[in-house]
Amino acid sequence: MSFTSLGLSASLLKTLANENYSAPYPIQKEAIPAILKKKDFLGIAKTGSGKTASYVLPILNNIKSNETLKNRHIKVLVLVPTRELASQVELVFRTFASALPDKVKTMAIFGGVSINPQMMAMNGVSILVATPGRLIELTESNAVHLSDIDTLVLDEADKMLNLGFKEEMQRIFSLLPKKRQNLLFSATLSDDVENIKQVLLNNPTIVKIESKESDEELIDQIAYAVEESRKGPLLRYLIKKDNLQQVLVFVSSAFKADQVAIKLARNGIHAVSIHGKKSMNSRSESLRRFKTAKIRVLVTTDLLARGIDIEFLPYVINYELPRSPKDYVHRIGRTGRAESPGEAISFVTPDDEHHFNIIQKKMKKEVNLIDSSSFDLQGY
Ligand code: AMP
Repeated sequence: MSFTSLGLSASLLKTLANENYSAPYPIQKEAIPAILKKKDFLGIAKTGSGKTASYVLPILNNIKSNETLKNRHIKVLVLVPTRELASQVELVFRTFASALPDKVKTMAIFGGVSINPQMMAMNGVSILVATPGRLIELTESNAVHLSDIDTLVLDEADKMLNLGFKEEMQRIFSLLPKKRQNLLFSATLSDDVENIKQVLLNNPTIVKIESKESDEELIDQIAYAVEESRKGPLLRYLIKKDNLQQVLVFVSSAFKADQVAIKLARNGIHAVSIHGKKSMNSRSESLRRFKTAKIRVLVTTDLLARGIDIEFLPYVINYELPRSPKDYVHRIGRTGRAESPGEAISFVTPDDEHHFNIIQKKMKKEVNLIDSSSFDLQGY
């Protein structure tokens, strides 16, 4: 099946071809026709499923781009949990909007950066991708109005609720016009998401994309038993010996992220850390450079992992194990996507062994644990 049968305009089809989207992913096959018909939609799907394009394409197809907007009245609002996701989603909108016959202005807004440039740039925006807190600030100062919205999208709704945005979301909903199209995307259908579904969605088309068992099967998982003091040398040894490129290393704190990255850099491995204590600009820049393979190793904490969406990320290293088995699966899910194999490597200290057994039990998969004590790490 190709995109042509889904009802999208010629200009969008052309951009799809340019972007090498040859066939629609399962969620796109279901979502595009339903959203084009202005139906409400619920998609239970993870990042990596193609969910972003599944709403971006029909929204752009439906948008009346020659319509005159009232000053600072947007038409499409996409709420997302994180700055990184806001930037990514806006980029997908911008990419596909660029080929439309009429200009459609898109913008991403998020906290942690100065608000003034965002206020000034809001004029003429029809599609806004926003994190909830910053959106409320901007509505309170009348920099943006939500009363003309045609389409509301909640992306990664479960994550938004987990991050404690429930009240902000309710406040935003209260500012929207009654008649509108609602699209809800979530990796899981928790009670809170179910609640939002009941309140917001009107007779929605519902699609659940089963998280493919094969996602995990695609990933080669190995673990190294290692003493805490030998973790740094082991990391450098593995990266150098196997000439690993595009490696995402997980640690448990901002301090550790900096420490590991500095040591790698001192040993001639181009590495950068990103975490919540770095400025938004530096994080975005590092992410961009990592994605385009200009940085070899990115050291990060779980907090930022969600925003790292790279189609062919080959290596994830758990320098420190995550607390929960769920986070483990989420971390290694960074690799092995889109049918490209990846490798997940975990460092397991004697103190971690019990915890690592629990992770394997929950995952229902045994991971080969290699004893690294005989590795000659001299010089690494
Ligand atoms: P998402 O789940 O929206 O974050 O998308 C995951 C990745 O898949 C992104 O890098 C998209 O560019 C890519 N992608 C989405 N749909 C398609 C498609 N139909 N063909 C090829 N790549 C796609």
